[in-house]
Amino acid sequence: MNTTSPGPDSAPMRIPARSGVAVQLAKGMTIKVINTHGHQVVDTWAFNQDDIGESMSMEHSRTSMLKLVPKVGDTLLTNHRRAILTLVEDTTPGVHDTLIAACDRHRYAQLGVVGYHDNCTDNLAAALARLGLKPQETPCPLNLFMNVPVRGNGQLGFAQPVSQAGQYVALRAEMDLIIVMSACPQDVTAVNGMMPTDAHYSII
Ligand SMILES: [Zn+2]
Repeated sequence: MNTTSPGPDSAPMRIPARSGVAVQLAKGMTIKVINTHGHQVVDTWAFNQDDIGESMSMEHSRTSMLKLVPKVGDTLLTNHRRAILTLVEDTTPGVHDTLIAACDRHRYAQLGVVGYHDNCTDNLAAALARLGLKPQETPCPLNLFMNVPVRGNGQLGFAQPVSQAGQYVALRAEMDLIIVMSACPQDVTAVNGMMPTDAHYSII
């Protein structure tokens, strides 16, 4: 597995391929999520550190942003409509997704996979369990680097990420929070270029 240092920051930490990590961020801290190899989707959630029932919500964020995809300067909201993360830098072409549910065991069964398949929903639960926490549900993630073309007639598609190796987004915490990032193990559709890989993160 390639763990080459991916980006401009020192000591980036690894999000191992097909798995997830949870990181506590104090208000005002910024995290860079790095697409180390350029074609890896990172499902991203954020939870109020003091109340795991309050979490970043794509539907509440879209209502506020009036956009399908956040751009630099946009703030993502919780299900209580409070600011939780702001996108402060994006060196990718800006293609991300807020529409598609996290993959889960049911999705892989639907796709014809027999037996267990790693999935972002279980990665979220496992990452939070390492902090002694249990999510009440699996909120729709901010799917960083995910390329879901929206056509003029409303038709959606699944395409490979357009980001390049080492490109990243930077997200600033607007409250004390727990951010969870899953290097999506989807290898049945094209969303990770058919080859899930590591990603990295660094905290500023
Ligand atoms: Zn996934």
